[in-house]
Amino acid sequence: MEQKTLWGIIDLCIAINQKAFQIYIKLSKAEEIKELKAFWKGMAAEEKIQKGFWDMAKQTAREYQLPHIFEDPAATKDELELLLRKIKVLLKRWEATQSMKNALILAYRLEYYMLHPTFELLYHALKPLAGSVDPADTYDRHIKKFIEMFIQYGDVTPELELLGETLQSLWQRNKSLVEMAMIDGLTGLLNRRGFLILANELSYLSKRKKENMGLFMIDIDRFKKINDTHGHPMGDKVLKAVAQSLKTYIRKSDVLGRFGGEEFIILFPDIRAAALPLIAEKIRKGVETAMPAGLLVTISIGVEQGVIQADPEKTLFSWISKADERLYKAKTGGRNRVVTDS
Ligand code: GH3
Ligand code: MG
Ligand code: MG
Repeated sequence: MEQKTLWGIIDLCIAINQKAFQIYIKLSKAEEIKELKAFWKGMAAEEKIQKGFWDMAKQTAREYQLPHIFEDPAATKDELELLLRKIKVLLKRWEATQSMKNALILAYRLEYYMLHPTFELLYHALKPLAGSVDPADTYDRHIKKFIEMFIQYGDVTPELELLGETLQSLWQRNKSLVEMAMIDGLTGLLNRRGFLILANELSYLSKRKKENMGLFMIDIDRFKKINDTHGHPMGDKVLKAVAQSLKTYIRKSDVLGRFGGEEFIILFPDIRAAALPLIAEKIRKGVETAMPAGLLVTISIGVEQGVIQADPEKTLFSWISKADERLYKAKTGGRNRVVTDS
């Protein structure tokens, strides 16, 4: 039932996006001022990029268990349905008059509705499924251009101008709220929740493609001592520097997160079994020689890998415990080391 609702939510996002595209095409066709015509056309083109993203994500996600990212999926679905209905009403209103002011108001409401947090949340959650199609940052430009036009054209009253600015600040706030839910504030890496959402998706993909996948649990050695000796702010600096260092050794397609205090986790989709111990060793050595924040810092790593055969979500959790066990072995074995098998 819940999965069905989630699919319904994605379909509604696609439908709203599609409607926006159609509306911008209509506005561009009806507009006589050359510059505005081009502007509406540009807005339509950007909606099309977004649509490419949604289509791609949906296609890849077909056999896949969607992540539980909504507190109340049924309520979210209802809200989106309402938005779609409202958009249709506004379109009719514009069609009746075709005035520039109504066009701007229609577009404003459209953009406002598409600031519904669902779009941003799903964008982050479905990103790994869309492959190379990534509309990141197009929305920033989209909104900026929109506001400039808003100010430049027609009898824009101070109220309308204020509406434009409201859009922009809402967008910024929305973005940071979603980021807070998935990103760790100190290191800028995915937090545990964000990691699990993305890792879960990639596990499903990996199973379908029968790829070998790897997982590292990484823990900083004697980190408490760093805090005790140099102070908590220095500890924070070390955490940031280690995060940066880890980043340099992985591919863009690998998923790196801060799993807890001084614990990091990396998922390597589509990786050769023989390559993993070498990567682990390179990372361990890399941190040791990097002297993050000017201190000698070492890490221990527990490794697990394989081809997923059973339930990907359960497998992911069992891999996390296995890697954790090995990490513990690395600690009891003297730290600053990699343990790849039991
Ligand atoms: P081990 O080698 O066994 O991993 O020893 P350890 O000292 O690294 O492990 P322990 O779990 O005893 O201590 C981890 C410390 O990390 C304790 C906690 O105060 C600190 N810590 C957790 N989160 C943060 C953070 O965000 N900033 C700082 N500065 N310290 C943190
Ligand atoms: Mg530690
Ligand atoms: Mg620890």
